[in-house]
Amino acid sequence: MSMSDCLFCKIVAGEIPATVVHETPRTIAFRDISPQAPVHVLVIPRDHHADLATLTDADPALAGEVFATAAAVARQEGLTDDGYRVIVNSGPHGGQEVFHLHAHVLGGRALGPMLS
Ligand code: 5GP
Repeated sequence: MSMSDCLFCKIVAGEIPATVVHETPRTIAFRDISPQAPVHVLVIPRDHHADLATLTDADPALAGEVFATAAAVARQEGLTDDGYRVIVNSGPHGGQEVFHLHAHVLGGRALGPMLS
């Protein structure tokens, strides 16, 4: 897939609307279109990196910024006291459907067992 075909690159470019909740110079966080919890936010690097390994190979500092933004979103959304979950799906068996690295921030209810 080229970057011009990437759904999340189009959100970064403002070509597809999204409810943005947090921005930093190199990351952006927006609400998932199909939320699996009361709070379900996706955090992405503005630059296109297909998956976790691609990102950490190319720019490990940016991977750290994605997680820092995830923590900032959790704080902003009021999730810190009760807790929350951050998930990065990677590849088909990991359940990754959009191949622009993203961290899911989920919270607002007890999430139960992680694996299914
Ligand atoms: P993955 O399965 O790749 O880890 O997660 C992709 C996520 O992107 C899913 O939770 C899905 O609901 C979300 N998603 C797919 N298309 C859109 C969209 O157009 N806008 C937003 N905000 N989220 C989307």
